[in-house]
Formats: sequence, structure tokens, C-alpha cells
Amino acid sequence: MKALLIGEYREGKLLDATYELCGFAEQLGAETAMFLCGSQNQLPAFGGNLYLADAAVAGEYNPDLHKQLILQVIEQEKPDCVVFVHSSYGWDLAPRVAASLKVAQVSEIIALADGGFEVGCLNAKMRRTVKPKTALSVLTIQAGAFAVKQGGAPQVKPVAATADSKLQFSGYEPAEPKDVDLAKAEVIVTAGRGIGKKENVALIHTLAKALGGELGASRPVVDAGWVEHSHQVGTTGQTVSPKLYLACGVSGAIQHLAGMKKSDFIIAVNKDKDAPIGEIADVLVVADLLQFVPALTAKVAR
Ligand SMILES: Cc1cc2nc3c(=O)[nH]c(=O)nc-3n(C[C@H](O)[C@H](O)[C@H](O)COP(=O)(O)OP(=O)(O)OC[C@H]3O[C@@H](n4cnc5c(N)ncnc54)[C@H](O)[C@@H]3O)c2cc1C
Repeated sequence: MKALLIGEYREGKLLDATYELCGFAEQLGAETAMFLCGSQNQLPAFGGNLYLADAAVAGEYNPDLHKQLILQVIEQEKPDCVVFVHSSYGWDLAPRVAASLKVAQVSEIIALADGGFEVGCLNAKMRRTVKPKTALSVLTIQAGAFAVKQGGAPQVKPVAATADSKLQFSGYEPAEPKDVDLAKAEVIVTAGRGIGKKENVALIHTLAKALGGELGASRPVVDAGWVEHSHQVGTTGQTVSPKLYLACGVSGAIQHLAGMKKSDFIIAVNKDKDAPIGEIADVLVVADLLQFVPALTAKVAR
């Protein structure tokens, strides 16, 4: 089994998610080679063949040219699977590569299953298992679902596009400034669906302020319109790494964990002692948050 990993480079920097591809390949027990459109000055810590295109020539983001380059590398390496991160880069490029080769594509893998892959469905409430039927397959993995693995020095093999592109990459535009920058917060107290109703956001916000921190939220709380999206933590929200992360009524879905698991110290308050967040929390308080949170706020505020 051989996996061709498609690394990512943005605004002159190698993205850490590149190493999650290595973790995925390790779990798969696959030999690896890597393609990266980047720079000689920012090589990944990866011990294997690295097919390196120059981002100054091919553009950091040009799905048309990058597809051509990846197809060239596939021709040389003859992998069994081509693996992208399920990012804006991967979800644009992977289907183009799969369609060009007329092979199976599996998107947003969260785990390996017996000979196949698990992907989320029904808003991540369930998982389904799929197995590609073609000899070569194109895969994308969910950010944060696989462990980071790095090490070694690459054997660099330069690659260059031979045809012109129909697209030109003109640059990135910064997002609108947010009312809160959770990435800078040292303490985050997060409201999960377990808070039950919008009126209870105030309980969590008050504790956050008493601890000198910011309010975070899980996606259902944002989707329900109880809290602004700028407070959402997770794959479709912000990635945070505060000193203290206090999750109240959050179950610990993989998309939430991906955004906060690098926090220094994690406390979870959940009435279910088996809630998955307990697996990564340093402390799991098994309690009704409607009783525990006001009591803790009163102690802190004293
Ligand atoms: C493509 C995609 C992207 C996603 N992106 C994100 C994302 O960025 N961020 C995110 O958070 N989710 C995201 N999700 C959704 C994610 O899969 C989960 O559905 C979500 O994280 C669950 O939120 P929750 O933990 O608040 O709610 P639930 O899973 O409903 O958990 C609620 C928890 O509260 C506990 N509880 C209930 N009442 C109380 C009480 N009184 N006291 C204490 N505990 C109580 C329950 O035991 C339960 O564990 C995404 C999903 C998809 C498909």
C-alpha cells in the first residue's frame, strides 16, 4: 500500500495539517511520498520522496495547475491512494484529480474501518463506512481526526507544470475582523447544547467574565442563533489553545475537539459520565451545569 500525501502551504508557510496526513498514512500502514507546492525554504519534516513544485511559479492556490502537477506525480509514484486534508484546498482539488482519473473519491474521513473508511453523516450524528472499489482512490481526511506525525528529511524531487493554467491566483483577502478573538484568549468557557436554551448563555458568559476569559460556543448553540458565529470553536469555527478551556454541556464531537484539544488544561462539565469529552478532559465534572456553573461563578467572584 502506497499513499501520495498532498501537503499544504499557505502565505509562505507549511500548514501543520500536512503532518496529519502522515499520521493517517501511518495508521493505514502505508508507504508514503508527498507532493507540495511550496518552497525550498520551508521543507516539511518528512522522510521520503517530496515532489516539490515552486509556489512562486505555480501559485499557492491554483487547482488547475496543481491538478496537472499531482497527475504527473501519480504517474511516477503509482500510489494506491492520494490523500488531501479536507480543507478549502483539498475539497476543491481532490474531486478534480478523482474525476480526471475516473477513480473513487471518499471525502472527510474521520477513522479507518475494516478495509474501508468511516465518514460522518446526518450532521455527524452517525457514521457510515465506505470502501473504494477502484484500485486507486482519492481521499480527504477531516482536520484534527488523525494524530500529527513528523520526522525525517525529504528527498526533494522538483516538479514543474508543462501546460498553461486557465486560472490565475491573485491572493488572499483577510476575513472581516471579529468581535472576539478566541485565539488570543487565555481562558475560554464554552456553552454547548446542554445549556438547554438561549437564556442560559448568560450563566456561561458570567462565569467566563468572572475567570477573566471569553465565551466560546459549540456549533448547535451558534446554529440555534443563541451565540454569534465568531464564538464558535471547532472545524467550522475557531481553533483555540487557551491555558484553561471549560466546556459546559459539550459532548465532545470530533469537529469540536479539533478546535480545542490543544488547550493546556481542559475541564468539562457534563451530566453524562460517559460523554466523549471525558476522554480528552483533564477533569470531568459529572454534574448538572445549571447547578454547577452558578455555584462555581459565586466561588470565583468571591
Ligand atoms: C462539517 C461539520 C462541521 C462541524 N463543525 C463544528 C464546529 O466547528 N464546532 C462544533 O462544536 N461542532 C461542529 N459540528 C457539529 C458536531 O458534529 C456536533 O454536532 C456538535 O459539536 C455537538 O455540539 P454539543 O456538544 O454542544 O451538543 P450535543 O452533542 O448535543 O451534546 C450536548 C451535551 O450536553 C450534555 N448535557 C445536557 N444537559 C446537560 C446539563 N444540564 N448539564 C450538563 N451537561 C448536560 C449532554 O450529556 C451532552 O453530552 C460540525 C459538524 C459537521 C458535520
